[in-house]
Amino acid sequence: MPIPYFQGIAAVVASVFVHVVIAPHFGRELAWLFTAAAISIGTASVVLYRSRIAKNYEWYKKTYPQHVAPDGRIKCFNCGSTRIHAHKRMNHSYVRDHFCTQCGTTLYHSPE
Ligand SMILES: [Zn+2]
Repeated sequence: MPIPYFQGIAAVVASVFVHVVIAPHFGRELAWLFTAAAISIGTASVVLYRSRIAKNYEWYKKTYPQHVAPDGRIKCFNCGSTRIHAHKRMNHSYVRDHFCTQCGTTLYHSPE
């Protein structure tokens, strides 16, 4: 299971912890505020991750079939170069960007 899913689960676990351990001391309102924040952040990280990896190699082949050679090697849809490199996007996105080294266009993504 990819890391963003664990972040989503961790948000729910942390929320339960806050309700059971912290709330009796600081009040229910604060606990519900924390729950709302935890669910928002957890959901956002999963939704963002899914939308990023949706544009993967298979997506590229379907979207730009004229830029895919019969052997599966791809060309940049922008400039036609075959020099495609990958780098980690970092910043807790857990996504790798595949980009054209000639013009810099990001072509598709893959899970880190
Ligand atoms: Zn290019």
